[in-house]
Amino acid sequence: MKLHMLGVNGPFPQSGGATSGYLLEAGETLIQFDLGSGVLSRLTAKTAPESVSALFLTHWHFDHAADLPVLMYRLDQLGDHPLPVYAPADPDSAIRRIVAASPRFSLKDVSAGDEISVGSCTVRVGEARHPVPAVGYRIESDGVSFGYTGDTNTLPGLSAFYRGCRVLLADGLFPESEWTAQKPHLSAAGAAMLAAEAGAEHVVLTHFNPVYPPEQLLQEARMHHAHVSLARPGEVLDL
Ligand SMILES: [Zn+2]
Ligand SMILES: [Zn+2]
Repeated sequence: MKLHMLGVNGPFPQSGGATSGYLLEAGETLIQFDLGSGVLSRLTAKTAPESVSALFLTHWHFDHAADLPVLMYRLDQLGDHPLPVYAPADPDSAIRRIVAASPRFSLKDVSAGDEISVGSCTVRVGEARHPVPAVGYRIESDGVSFGYTGDTNTLPGLSAFYRGCRVLLADGLFPESEWTAQKPHLSAAGAAMLAAEAGAEHVVLTHFNPVYPPEQLLQEARMHHAHVSLARPGEVLDL
């Protein structure tokens, strides 16, 4: 499996950047995780967006879903079948209402415990703790596991869900000095602790808020895990 880092910021992009969006490539199977602002253009540089096998959203916050209504315009012109979209139900989301009403998408609600087969991949749905309904995903293909936390703070059982993942892509938004248990995101150190507890070989920090210096996040995370890196836009990671 390969992971294309299309957008790594949140809740707003850095100059020239994009918010959350990652394209997973497993042979012929292409799965897009989240489609934040600026991600559609980067996805289009990799492949025709209507050709992806499915789109999985961790939640409906704009920094994860903003490009969906724009993708709908593209599908109006170039789509020849409804694009499968998997996401947690969130009746308060305006974007979800647009997606649910459009014949260009085939929307399926997911919740923790679900397991979905997409091509050569099995996608399992796990919990997340965030101010809106949110989930994380664990993907298995060819005996390799990859985890993506989406937006979350600490949660009992989180490390059990990601146990044994080779790579964990984790929300590490906060520096230690700004983090509390009530915040909507993990700290970088917390993301590294989660990966260590889960026995993940490598943790990739993501969801960078442009106001916090990434080098500080990296330094703080390295206190808790031997193999930490920062998600870099444009990078292709071998999973
Ligand atoms: Zn976010
Ligand atoms: Zn969010």
